[in-house]
Formats: sequence, C-alpha cells, structure tokens
Amino acid sequence: MSRTLETLVFENTYVRLPEDYYSRVAPEPLRNARLVAFNAEASALLDLDPAEANRPDFVAYFNGEKRLPNSDPIATLYAGHQFGVYVPQLGDGRALLLGEVRNARGEKWDLQLKGSGRTPYSRFGDGRAVLRSTIREYLCSEAMHALGIPTTRALCILGSDEPVYRETVERGAVLVRLAPTHVRFGSFEVFFYRRRAEDVARLANYVIEQFFPDRCALAIEERLAGLLQEVTVRTARLVAQWQAVGFAHGVLNTDNMSILGLTLDYGPFGFLDDYDPHFICNHSDVTGRYAFARQPGIALWNLQCLAQTFATFVPRERLAAILDTFRDVFFAEYERLMLAKLGLVNRRPEDTELLVDWLTLLERNRADYTIAFRRLSEVVPEDPAHPANARLQDVFVDRAAVAAWLDRYGARLAQDGLPTPERHRRMRAVNPKYILRNYLAHLAIERAQEGDFTEIERLLDVLRRPYDEQPTQARYAEPPPDWGKRLEVSCSS
Ligand code: AMP
Ligand code: MG
Repeated sequence: MSRTLETLVFENTYVRLPEDYYSRVAPEPLRNARLVAFNAEASALLDLDPAEANRPDFVAYFNGEKRLPNSDPIATLYAGHQFGVYVPQLGDGRALLLGEVRNARGEKWDLQLKGSGRTPYSRFGDGRAVLRSTIREYLCSEAMHALGIPTTRALCILGSDEPVYRETVERGAVLVRLAPTHVRFGSFEVFFYRRRAEDVARLANYVIEQFFPDRCALAIEERLAGLLQEVTVRTARLVAQWQAVGFAHGVLNTDNMSILGLTLDYGPFGFLDDYDPHFICNHSDVTGRYAFARQPGIALWNLQCLAQTFATFVPRERLAAILDTFRDVFFAEYERLMLAKLGLVNRRPEDTELLVDWLTLLERNRADYTIAFRRLSEVVPEDPAHPANARLQDVFVDRAAVAAWLDRYGARLAQDGLPTPERHRRMRAVNPKYILRNYLAHLAIERAQEGDFTEIERLLDVLRRPYDEQPTQARYAEPPPDWGKRLEVSCSS
C-alpha cells in the first residue's frame, strides 16, 4: 500500500479529548523552506510513497504553507518537573501534532512538527528549532531505532533561511517526528496539580484504549495500576538499554518521559566516548542531576511523579509496591544485557564481579566504552599470542591489568563452552561498532550549515547497521579527536 500526501489516512483521536487538553494552532511557515533530509524507512510507517518527497508540495505541507487533507494541527498541553522543580505549564511550545496516521498494518502514528512556530504554550520561546538540533534528533532517533532501543522516529528535516537567535544567529528548521503517541508523564501532572483527578483518569483511559485495549473493561483502580505497572516495566527496560549502550539523555525531566517508554525529546544527549559513569552531556546541568549513572534513579523519581497523579484512584501502598518493581526489572535487564555484551551464556554468581572489574578497568584507563566492548568481541583468551588480545589491550594504559582480567575471563568462557566463532558472532550482534558520537554529528552539522546535506545521509546509512563490520566505513568507528571530546551541548536549541 503506497499513498500520496493527499491520501494519508488520518484518524485524529487526541482532538476528541476535551478542548483544553490542546490548542488548535496553524504552523508558521519558515522562509524559503527546503528539504534537508528524508527518511524513506520512516515514510513506510505511514504507508507514504517515498517518491512524494520529490514533490514541491511535500515541503509546502510540512512547512505549513498548505494543510494536509484531514490533518487537524494542535499543540498539546502538559506540565512537568524540570530539574526537580514543578513547572505548572509547559506544553508543545514549538511542536504541533498535525494528526494521527493509521497505516495498513493497523498502527497509528502521530505526525508531529517540531520547530513550526509559536503556540499558546511557547512562554518566552520563539517556537523554533535550529538546523543543528533537528539534525541531532533526526540522526539519533534513527540510530537508536537501529540499535533496537525504543524511540520516537524521524521522517524528515526542512531547512530554511529563517534567522533564529540562539548564542549566535542560526537558521530555523523543522523536524517531522513520528511516535505512536507523544503523551508524557507531564501530560498527567498538569491535571493532577490543577486538582482535576477526573482528567487524569480520562487521559489514562485514552492511553489504555489506544495501546492496551484489552484492559479497558477493568475497574478504574485496576486500569490505572496496570498502566503504571506497564510504564514502570517499559521505563526500567528502556533505561537499562541506555546504560548498556552508553547513552545519556541529558534532560530527563518528567515532560520528556514517554508514557510508552520511548526515548523522547533528543536535546543535549550524548553517547559515552571514554567510560565515565559521571559523564554529564548537558552543559546546562551544573549539578549533574542527569549524569549518565544517575539515569536509573532519575527514571524512578520521574515514575514517582507519575504515580502520584494516580493517587486519587489507587491506594498509595499499591502505587508504592508497583514502583518497587522498578529496581528488580532494571537490574535484571541491565545484567542480562551486560552479560550478553561479555558473551556469557549460563549466568554464574561470580559474573557480577567479573563485569564490575571490567567496568572499573574501563573507568580507570579512560578506555573508549564502545571500542573496548567491540574489541572484546574479538579476543581469543585461550591463545595468549592472538593479535586480537593485543588490540584490546591497546585501548588501555595498564596492559598488565587487562591481561590479568583476560585470564579470568578466558577461564570463565571455558565454563560456558561456546565455540569461539559463535561467541564472537553473538557478541558483535550486541556490541555496536557504530554509534552517533558527538563529533560525528558535529561534522555532519557543519557541512549542512554550508549547504551540503550529503554527510547526514552517509552517516545515517552507517548508523542503520550499527552491529555490522562495514569495513569501508571504519573511519566512523574511530574515537573522537581531541576537539571532539570538548564539544559543549546545552538545552537551548
Ligand atoms: P525541551 O527542553 O525541548 O524538552 O522543552 C521544554 C519546554 O520548553 C517544552 O514545553 C517546549 O515546548 C518548550 N520550548 C523549548 N524550546 C522552545 C522554543 N524555542 N520556543 C518555544 N517553546 C520552547
Ligand atoms: Mg521536551
């Protein structure tokens, strides 16, 4: 099934909610908008014929010069805890939900613009996004998807000549983003703090109807408790995946937490280069609230904020008992992922210590997280002279310490008895060679700002197959040059 822009099947459900859950807003077109990047893989989610991107109307529709038939653009209301402080009203300040598209497989996708101009929720903002930040979100959301991590998706980027004032003058851009829903924890908080418990329940019912329809018939307490349990499990697993791959979100405010456990709102995110649990990717995060190793604790804190909004309908002890499951789900998933990264099959009690010692080695030696795991996926500890072992040691300063650890590791592998080539294959399938390092995004952005968008395509093409060797693309697997480690990324984008 291949559709044109005019024949997309809209089924707009959010607008059926009460009118003060959103505001109808028209996008404000950018000056001289043009297509910067288009993602055919994401267009398939809408059943949209990728050839449609070549029509001038493609830009006109997503730039708001024309309205897509049956779309119904709205900015949605939400609130949230930002850096631990409750902010009573946020909302889509620069985003617009054009509508929801139902595809032939029965999936429904929010079609959302980000950077499309001011809305009633813009506060002091200009409603814009700069090219730099849209490229970062475009690349990262697709890279996360390819890594197997739940995330919003990206359809395309429009660039423009519109001046947008940040630290310097930049150019305005629009990201077209897709997700089953963009409902956030903060979408519930706004009603809770306005003492509108019925609306908390109504929104929860909406989410349940859309995504967990078999739970619709339950009593209200069961429905809400079930939803909280589902979000708790999904969030715990999501964050375990972030920790395993070395991803730091950067702004884990409750308004950036998806009710479906998706990675949402890419701002000053960063992937670890050197392994540093205290890594802070957001230059504005002076206290390190959202430092890499704090993400699991922060996710639980955010879930507590969500749970609180259900307290009218679910006894507090029951909410607390559900939140208590976060810890176990997170640790079980994190351990499962990390042991797979080590290539261990039959879990043994001493494995935790082996893992902790490995991570300590990485930290002490400031070893590159991704490269160290990838090279570990090639070692042959039973053959001490094997060149792959030396290649792993090259990532560390203290080679003797790695050799000692490799001895223990080799003995442990022998207990599993997995043939070496099979272990190598399994480990390469979970230890990516290619991640979106900050400096790689930076290089693609620099080129794009000069009008050359080809590097975005090239980089995305590599990131789509993060676990494959891709020998001709090996330069994208290099650690950052010195300048690339000191790039500053902050919230204002
Ligand atoms: P973020 O930090 O991007 O998750 O945004 C937090 C809140 O600020 C959300 O309500 C955004 O819609 C709003 N916001 C961020 N940047 C802008 C902007 N340039 N104009 C208007 N609102 C913005
Ligand atoms: Mg946000």
